[in-house]
Amino acid sequence: MNLSDISTVKSILAKNGFTFKKSLGQNFLINPTVCPQMAEHSADLDTGVLEIGPGIGVLTSLLAQIAKKVVAIELDERLRPVLSQTLAEFDNTKVIFGDAMKLDLKQIIADEFADCDHVVVCANLPYYITSPIIMMLLESKLPIKSITVMVQKEAAERLCAKPGDKECGAISVAVSYYSDPELLFLVDRDSFLPAPNVDSAVIKLNVLPEPKVKVDDEQKFFKFIKACFAQRRKTLTNTVSSTLGIPKDKIISALEQCSLPPTVRAEQLPIETLAQLSDLLM
Ligand code: SAM
Repeated sequence: MNLSDISTVKSILAKNGFTFKKSLGQNFLINPTVCPQMAEHSADLDTGVLEIGPGIGVLTSLLAQIAKKVVAIELDERLRPVLSQTLAEFDNTKVIFGDAMKLDLKQIIADEFADCDHVVVCANLPYYITSPIIMMLLESKLPIKSITVMVQKEAAERLCAKPGDKECGAISVAVSYYSDPELLFLVDRDSFLPAPNVDSAVIKLNVLPEPKVKVDDEQKFFKFIKACFAQRRKTLTNTVSSTLGIPKDKIISALEQCSLPPTVRAEQLPIETLAQLSDLLM
């Protein structure tokens, strides 16, 4: 069964009386070149793959052919009969129905992938919760090697931005704290049914064994980073002072200790310097 062929997709969905729910971010891939590329970038024969949002199983079935085991988490119960048909031939694949944001993924990984060399996440994410899912995967420190996901093009640019890029923000710093991000390739909006009104991109976050920098207090560091980027047009001194109520002279003195002028902006600074400032000020 070719699950990225538009007439096959339409016929499966019609047979099961399935209608798309925009609120669940249901845009299914119909471009036959995209899923094989995603699967090859993320998995090999020894890999356990956790997929979030299998839809009708187009990516799931390709992952099943190259990985050791695939566990897919799908929120929409209406896809149960569809997935039981489309994944019937794969005995290394399991679908768990539930909310990926609420399930205990650490436990699922421990229970399902004990015999796999390593575990990765691969998914065409529902766009309404792209950043929360990515941050949840990273913050919960799951034993995963990488996260290869399709996201909106603009989100991909923010998630993979480096210091000095205009898209660099709090989420870019948070992602780079836990991983080395790379933007793999762009995907045109016409690759989906129904076509969304934005283009997409596939990114890969190579999860680091330890966070990129050591900080005194992780929670305070993330609070500081949020404050640094809260008002993008302002200098770091002004935005941190107004967001966190820290006196300006204290911030200027911390900047001086890092050999930085009071006019510097957060997006110009590498994560190592932001960590140093956080330890001095928080
Ligand atoms: N993987 C399929 C594909 O590429 O064609 C479908 C991708 S579609 C963009 C997103 C999928 O995520 C849908 O199947 C949707 O029902 C599911 N989904 C939405 N919210 C979810 C959640 N919180 N947990 C698990 N799955 C979710």
